Amino acid sequence: MSRQRLTVVLSQAQGKNPGRRALEESIAAALIMEPGLDVSIVPYLYDLDAEHTGRLFLESVQGDMVVLAWMFPRAAFWLLDRDGIKGHYGDNQIAPPAEVEDDEDGEPEPPKGIGAVDVPKRWIYCLDLRDHKSHDIYIQEVRRIAAECRERRAAGNGHTTMVELGLPAPKPQPSFASEQLLKQPERRWYPVIDYSRCTNCMECLDFCLFGVYGVDNLDRLIVENQDSCKRGCPACSRVCPEQAIMFPDYKTPAIAGAPVGNISGLKIDLSKLFGGGDAMAIAAQERDRELLADGRQAVGLTVGIPKRQSDKPQEPKDDLDKLMDALDELEI
Ligand code: SF4
Ligand code: SF4
Repeated sequence: MSRQRLTVVLSQAQGKNPGRRALEESIAAALIMEPGLDVSIVPYLYDLDAEHTGRLFLESVQGDMVVLAWMFPRAAFWLLDRDGIKGHYGDNQIAPPAEVEDDEDGEPEPPKGIGAVDVPKRWIYCLDLRDHKSHDIYIQEVRRIAAECRERRAAGNGHTTMVELGLPAPKPQPSFASEQLLKQPERRWYPVIDYSRCTNCMECLDFCLFGVYGVDNLDRLIVENQDSCKRGCPACSRVCPEQAIMFPDYKTPAIAGAPVGNISGLKIDLSKLFGGGDAMAIAAQERDRELLADGRQAVGLTVGIPKRQSDKPQEPKDDLDKLMDALDELEI
């Protein structure tokens, strides 16, 4: 595969929804005819484990990449990063840009997170297949991205060698049988960390009593045991003060990875969803439910609750309940 070509990966929806399959197929059929593109289809990104051929394929891709998936771009990008499929975040022009909240001086808030490590000089663009029903919009956007990547290379900001790319020496390109590539994986459930927001405060590690979180050899928070997480539970995402923990399959957009500050066009007070007293109470209830299901004792608000909440009175839950109901009713 030439490094000058753009790899386009379509990640299938879970299940067999005919409308979703039709959109995937029409995009693939159109892009496969485009010069300069290598188009592949893999199962649902979030469900791929380290042994799945689709994951091995993604790890083998060199150079810039576009990933079209049925999830928020922020979730898809950091999910890939967690799997070692790294690059710089490529902005797409399909989804509305995140609203940036100004501080008192009118300057945008700078990113506070610790960022990713070992990022090669390539760009990964993630597009959300839930944004539009028409395949044309995605085709146009992939063409625009392909042109942007070509211009970047032509301007000398790109790369021509693997050393410049920051990638390991090239291995012989493996071949992937399509029936292996598309083998449907088991569904999974685990948190995904947005390191552009994560400040390494370790509050999630203190809160989770199921051994999901750990630290790497640089003392950075990592999701160490993904599959120890409790299916359907998003408790620790409510505890994170930076809204850095995402569960891509959760029904509430703010937890599933919607751009922070712009939750499907709704202006909401995120402190009510994340890190506020109500959020802590809900998170503790969710955690207790999983502890009891495991035959353990409930701990309520006595273990792993961030100190920033300890002196605050617990507010009535009415506002948050209404907000959660409104978000849960959103069709995305
Ligand atoms: S609570 Fe949030 S900001 Fe703190 S370490 Fe965990 S993910 Fe990072
Ligand atoms: S959702 Fe629950 S089990 Fe999963 S990582 Fe968070 S606190 Fe741990």
